[in-house]
Amino acid sequence: MPRRAILKAAGLAALGAGLPACASRRPGSLVWPEPPRRLARVHVSEDRIIRTVVGLRPFRPSGFVVRTEKIGDTTVVHNYGHGGGGITLSWGTSELAVEEAWKTGQRRFAVLGCGAVGLASARLLQQRGGEVTIYAKDLPPRTTSNIAGGQWSPTSVMDGDRRTAESDALLARAARLSHRSFQQLPAAEFGIRWLENYVLSDEPLQEWWEQSLVRDLYPESRELRRHEHPFPARYARRFTTMLIEPPIYLSAMLRDVRLAGARIVVRELSRREQVQELPEPVVVNCTGLGAKALFADEELRPVKGQLTFLLPQAEVDYIVIGDGLYMFPRRDGILLGGTFEHDVWSLDVNEEARRRIMAGHRALFEGMR
Ligand SMILES: Cc1cc2nc3c(=O)[nH]c(=O)nc-3n(C[C@H](O)[C@H](O)[C@H](O)COP(=O)(O)OP(=O)(O)OC[C@H]3O[C@@H](n4cnc5c(N)ncnc54)[C@H](O)[C@@H]3O)c2cc1C
Repeated sequence: MPRRAILKAAGLAALGAGLPACASRRPGSLVWPEPPRRLARVHVSEDRIIRTVVGLRPFRPSGFVVRTEKIGDTTVVHNYGHGGGGITLSWGTSELAVEEAWKTGQRRFAVLGCGAVGLASARLLQQRGGEVTIYAKDLPPRTTSNIAGGQWSPTSVMDGDRRTAESDALLARAARLSHRSFQQLPAAEFGIRWLENYVLSDEPLQEWWEQSLVRDLYPESRELRRHEHPFPARYARRFTTMLIEPPIYLSAMLRDVRLAGARIVVRELSRREQVQELPEPVVVNCTGLGAKALFADEELRPVKGQLTFLLPQAEVDYIVIGDGLYMFPRRDGILLGGTFEHDVWSLDVNEEARRRIMAGHRALFEGMR
């Protein structure tokens, strides 16, 4: 834009903002008094539903596994069990797993699994100069990672009462590495954007413990007063996070892994000993919930989640998280979620949960001022 046009636009913007002549800045601050911005309402009705999908979160009460073991001559580096935060943590735990794999001195690697975690591990190995073959039962779009909502938030990853100083440090390290990696990707091409999140409740809000570990990764976090937001809730908190849209993100990752020369083999392994049949001496295990049967991990269990999508609304540019509800504005539809059914293996739609999610969101958005 030519300089004159910029000056003109700046002048118009100042006029358009309608700032009173006496509007003043806080001393030492560059922040002008900010009127609450207008948030578009989500239209929730049965005739706007385009699909309902179900996925099983790979949950371990004591947290994800990054650990090395030997099976015969093969080194296996485990990288699984990310619960409800596997998109979020994928680059971080993969960085830790790849560090272990690289220490073996080998340069040919098998990656088991082609969800968010397997793809990040494969890319990191390739970026170091490794040669990668991915073995997976299913490829995107048929992975749990494709079902994920895609909010960047290292939450619902483990039970709070199983925390230790070590698990806190590990979670924070993985979250930090991952947060940085997502920002290094070309955002639009990978379906990544920054959005305001509004957490709502009629009860006083507690900070999530995971959030308190990495507070700086939730920029602009603050409590809002009643007049500062339009929602029918007594308490509200706002922060900003990335939304990573899995259908766009995973196909961009798969493309990059292939362009960098990975071989992709569709194959299901049914016994842990089968890793010895693979020609690669080092295997990074990113099989998600599949690790339960394959590597006999008794702690791993499903947490069923269900999402109902409404027709897209491009004007909705914020996330809402209520009591048992959440809304993410994705390009492929307005996503309504909020179910966490522990130890349920069924992939069938739960009609009762669908009705609850629809009714809850309808009340929330119809109640907006
Ligand atoms: C409803 C819902 C909402 C969610 N929302 C979010 C969110 O907003 N943010 C977030 O960060 N996370 C979210 N998650 C969690 C996220 O989806 C998971 O943590 C993540 O997908 C785990 O990734 P993964 O690569 O480990 O597993 P998967 O995506 O399940 O990939 C596993 C891979 O291993 C392969 N595999 C498994 N077993 C075998 C075997 N025996 N042999 C060969 N291959 C095998 C599979 O075919 C697949 O390719 C959500 C999950 C659900 C269900």
